[in-house]
Amino acid sequence: MKKKEEKKKEEKNVVMENLISLCKRRGFIFQGSEIYGGLAGTWDYGPLGTGLKDNIKNLWLKRFVIDRNDMFKVDATILMNQNVWKASGHVSGFTDPMADGSKFNTMFSTSIGAGKEAMTSYLRPETAQGMFVNFKNIIDSFHPTLPFGMAQIGKAFRNEISPRDFLFRTREFEQMEIEYFVDPRNEQKIIETFDALYSEQMRFLADLGLEKSRIHKIEVPADDRAHYSKRSVDTEFDFPFGQRELLGIAYRTDYDLKAHMDASGVDLSYFDEETKQRFVPHCIEPTFGVDRLVLAVLSQAYGEDSLGGEKRVYLKLSPSVAPVKIAVFPLQKNKEVLVSKAQEIYKMLRKQFEAVLYDDTGSIGKRYRRQDEIGTPYCVTIDFDTVEKDDSVTVRDRDTGEQERVVVKDLISYLENKLED
Ligand code: ATP
Repeated sequence: MKKKEEKKKEEKNVVMENLISLCKRRGFIFQGSEIYGGLAGTWDYGPLGTGLKDNIKNLWLKRFVIDRNDMFKVDATILMNQNVWKASGHVSGFTDPMADGSKFNTMFSTSIGAGKEAMTSYLRPETAQGMFVNFKNIIDSFHPTLPFGMAQIGKAFRNEISPRDFLFRTREFEQMEIEYFVDPRNEQKIIETFDALYSEQMRFLADLGLEKSRIHKIEVPADDRAHYSKRSVDTEFDFPFGQRELLGIAYRTDYDLKAHMDASGVDLSYFDEETKQRFVPHCIEPTFGVDRLVLAVLSQAYGEDSLGGEKRVYLKLSPSVAPVKIAVFPLQKNKEVLVSKAQEIYKMLRKQFEAVLYDDTGSIGKRYRRQDEIGTPYCVTIDFDTVEKDDSVTVRDRDTGEQERVVVKDLISYLENKLED
């Protein structure tokens, strides 16, 4: 029994090793400060990694900000007045237990300014506080009526005692967070809003192409919740190294606004014009880790199989997140007629789909393998029939390896349909 488990664990480690090596080989993600031997808990994104990450962030923005009329997007600073972190409870309580039983505060402290004037502060360990401290600014400049939300994407820093599992637990990472403010007088509405935001989180995971069977809903029991949270639901995902937290949602009541009101002395209440009542709104917080989403997407997509008798490594990325949507190849690079036609088609597709790549090096088979490895859903090849006979091209599907002839004038609509599926 034990041997079986060990074998399983080894297989999972191999998957992670292969994935990390593909990410480096193909320009997705590199070890941070690599030429100096690296820095534990830091990873740099290359061109394809940023492409993938940007697609994830843009899908989030579309679902949670652009397609709604109740969200205010902000971009607050990483450095904040240290009193923010005292009020939020991070200075006293943002700790991890050390092996010897003592507690270690995982905020990175830093010194702001020079000499005697220097002040201690911290690199933010979450983006949330940047929204609470701007709550009054949003009220004063936009006069929104409840419910409404604030949304932010940005870096967060935690001095994790043992960073591990590639992008899963790092010391510098990116979060996408929402503080959604609701009327505390209507409990039923709060329950409904919590459920609606949770459902949106699930729809967003579907936008990324994550499989339902790998996603698990965990109602966090009262004993495990932060003391201010009335309800928390964690969403866990089957990573190669096990089922772990991907994102979460918490009903934080009026804890944060009240804490900042008490500490700053500034009134952070809301005036309800209809009932002429003043109160402090309650808050529901959906929170997402961008890098964990990148890892979830990549680890689900990674696969090895054989196609046409040849072994291949591929990323089965959903077209919605794939950093390159289409690759265009001339069958040969030394035949002017092929190259000029391929360039023409490349430019046409690029205008329409943006993330289009042109490749003319090596055999067609090698070019297909390269695109499979970076998860490009479709490859378009221009051959002699294209220019001499039928003005049609070969479109090859990443997942099945099947090829279809498509007339150039129908190519855009054909690919549009395929990429939307
Ligand atoms: P964990 O229990 O795994 O440390 P957490 O409960 O402390 O996570 P939160 O404080 O709720 O996490 O942070 C919100 C989100 O930020 C998490 O769901 C996760 O996606 C992401 N996150 C937190 N810590 C890290 C980290 N060290 N590296 C990468 N992402 C992180």
